[in-house]
Amino acid sequence: MDADSSLVPTQELLDELASVSASFETASPQEILRWAVDRFGKRFTMATAFGPEGMTIIHMLSEISPTTPIFNLDTGYQFPETLALRERIKERYGIEVELKRPVLSVEEYERINGGPVYKTEPNRCCADRKIAVLFDAARGMHAWASAIRRDQSPDRAVAPIIGWDKKFQLVKVSPLANWTKKDVWGLIATEDIPYNPLHDTGYTSIGCWPCTRSVSLGEDERAGRWSGTAKTECGLHTQD
Ligand code: SF4
Repeated sequence: MDADSSLVPTQELLDELASVSASFETASPQEILRWAVDRFGKRFTMATAFGPEGMTIIHMLSEISPTTPIFNLDTGYQFPETLALRERIKERYGIEVELKRPVLSVEEYERINGGPVYKTEPNRCCADRKIAVLFDAARGMHAWASAIRRDQSPDRAVAPIIGWDKKFQLVKVSPLANWTKKDVWGLIATEDIPYNPLHDTGYTSIGCWPCTRSVSLGEDERAGRWSGTAKTECGLHTQD
């Protein structure tokens, strides 16, 4: 595959995406994924942090298109329980999630920066250890699946089902945009989909261990991410 072949957001393409997105407002996630697989073939990919929504999409893709490449941004700061899911996916579905890593190991990164960057500049840490890696992983791809739900945050509430991701120059496909947390956990229970055991101990949204805490009853489901700071997103799902 030509790694440099990128998709150009012509008006024709943007019109197609808007029209397909509108028509998918009442479609099932499987119908949306099937369209993406047919439309973009080998240039359709998925980044996952192994959250419940991502596990749900992996389960669906295992039935629709098990060869769609799936990768994880392995920052070096993930919980062992999160990384163990990669093996569980392999056992259950025969799918090998590729771990995409930053050039520098955690040790090298912290050494040249005089300590953990997440403590002082979490935005730069996410930019270096997630966003830069995703830019690299996105090269040659035309579309990616995202596991966001509109009811997760005000930022995500306006996400289209199919849209143009200006930041990564990819078509962003969000098959679970209209699903609720209950829908996701309902499918996990019915289909016995593997999930991160930390969810059973109060961790509702799981990222890197230094920037994730468990939440108390009644707190927002993403309240445990970058808790105590103004940061709410790593930058993957924002356009600036
Ligand atoms: S979530 Fe925290 S540790 Fe992970 S990349 Fe971002 S700032 Fe760094």
